[in-house]
Amino acid sequence: MIRPILHYPNRSLRQRCEPVHEVTREIISLVNDLAETMYAAPGVGLAAPQVGVPLRVFVVDVTPSDKEAFLRVFINPEIVHRTGSADSLEGCLSLPGVNKVIERSAGIIVRSIGLDGDPVELVADGLLSFAIQHELDHLDGILLTQGR
Ligand code: ZN
Repeated sequence: MIRPILHYPNRSLRQRCEPVHEVTREIISLVNDLAETMYAAPGVGLAAPQVGVPLRVFVVDVTPSDKEAFLRVFINPEIVHRTGSADSLEGCLSLPGVNKVIERSAGIIVRSIGLDGDPVELVADGLLSFAIQHELDHLDGILLTQGR
């Protein structure tokens, strides 16, 4: 189900989200909705607070549009290692028309749990790394306009 994407200055975008305690059917349904809403927008990432759900969940897909989709799901994500820094030109579905250069870590290792409830670790750089850092900011109520 496509859910409405909240726009700045909606207060839901400014809160610190709560961890998921168990991957229930509701969480799986939320993930499916996030993916559907992100692809419909279209965007490369979407976090639960952007649809008004204050949980630490987001989806990312940075695959070029001429390639087959590859959805990545992050539940309770945490960056456990960072390397380097790089400028990233970013937009946000909650801030239509705004683009901003933000200094990000160039490479990250992110730990989260998968839809099966098991821990997963991902090494990311480039666009994927930037997208993950952007979505992670959403879980802490940080929007593009604040930058770093
Ligand atoms: Zn965003």
